[in-house]
Amino acid sequence: MRKETKCIHAGYTPGNGESRMIPIIQSTTFKYDTSEDMGKLFDLETEGYFYTRLQNPTNDMVAAKIAALEGGTAAMLTSSGQAASFFSVFNLAGQGDHVISSASIYGGTFNLFNVTMRRMGVDFTFVDPDCSEEELEAAFRPNTKLVFGETIANPALTVFDIERFANAAHAHGVPLIIDNTFATPINCRPIEWGADIVTHSTTKYMDGHDATVGGVIVDSGKFDWMAHADKFPGLCTPDESYHGITYAEKFGKEGAFITKATAQLMRDLGSIQAPMNAYFLNLGLESLAVRVKRHCENAQKVAEFLDSHEKVAWVTYPGLPGDKYYERAQKYLPEGVCGVISFGVKGGRKAAEEFMKHLKLAIIATHVADAHTCILHPANSTHRQMTDEELIACGVGPDLIRLSCGIENVEDILEDLEQALASI
Ligand SMILES: *Cc1c(COP(=O)(O)O)cnc(C)c1O
Repeated sequence: MRKETKCIHAGYTPGNGESRMIPIIQSTTFKYDTSEDMGKLFDLETEGYFYTRLQNPTNDMVAAKIAALEGGTAAMLTSSGQAASFFSVFNLAGQGDHVISSASIYGGTFNLFNVTMRRMGVDFTFVDPDCSEEELEAAFRPNTKLVFGETIANPALTVFDIERFANAAHAHGVPLIIDNTFATPINCRPIEWGADIVTHSTTKYMDGHDATVGGVIVDSGKFDWMAHADKFPGLCTPDESYHGITYAEKFGKEGAFITKATAQLMRDLGSIQAPMNAYFLNLGLESLAVRVKRHCENAQKVAEFLDSHEKVAWVTYPGLPGDKYYERAQKYLPEGVCGVISFGVKGGRKAAEEFMKHLKLAIIATHVADAHTCILHPANSTHRQMTDEELIACGVGPDLIRLSCGIENVEDILEDLEQALASI
């Protein structure tokens, strides 16, 4: 199946007389005839369900669809994108371990790594995604367990050189984890470029309708844990909390990572997605390919409009020839980048405030990447406690506006922007 078809059909094939849509198994528990039957599940001897905190059939159908879209072997849904980022890293790195991450990542992921996971004893080195070979080499340590990056960084719109970082990670015997939220598997499949694990905030384009918060982790099934057994004792030595199972031995390359994340992390940390939310996520996924195409077409037209507008000082969009990441976007995202653009209006903070006041269609929201066009002026909202100097230092200037193009008729989006720009 091609990707558009997978969006509709992957993950669930109804049998004769069964429901066409995935069933919502809204049940905490599952019933068995004998204790032996249930015992086998607890020993991971047979597959099946016993408690929704660990696994749920509705969630698994949706996870299987996303695994098929990304070209992976196994996947799990999580309650949020944050949980997906955390689980993907914590499944490999614990106290005393070290992780290399791109410095250009989502702010929530940066806080998770730099504050919360440091408190758990995991050390991080943040590297410029465009750093030199020497700088990248120097970041690796004997206790480095993985490398992390974002296909298109939210909100900086940095396009990550996946192939380069995958090669570097593999040369050091560790996997590359990629947050593919903004690109979606419609525009980029990081596994094809060497990524080993892919994560998403499904809250964004995958759900795509402002309806449900969620996340997903997909395993490529390609990383040979046993070949680097000394680095990954959690996968390659017996798990005493799970009857002495050695995940990499019992489930192989294809299944070890997600089985461990389920059996250990979901069991202990309990960040399961609600089956009802998984159902809504699946509805979003069915139209993902058509929506992403439209988001990109609209964003391209809007970026070109802004780029040639006399009241606009600058535009960042990797689909614009001349953008710092245009060439790299052509390589990794030839069919389209994403719907998010950032730009600045001439006249700085004051002009940006005036512009925002006059918008009629674009919704002012901290959210991005869904059907409704939405817009944010960080200097006046999420970053309002900072001075102009501090804003410039962190790369979010006082004039910066982040615009997420929805799937409305692009003429309506353009008219709204035009009349708001005219008001400055
Ligand atoms: C929103 C976002 C997250 C966090 O996801 P939530 O679903 O809000 O927890 C992670 N990564 C990226 C790139 C995001 O845009």
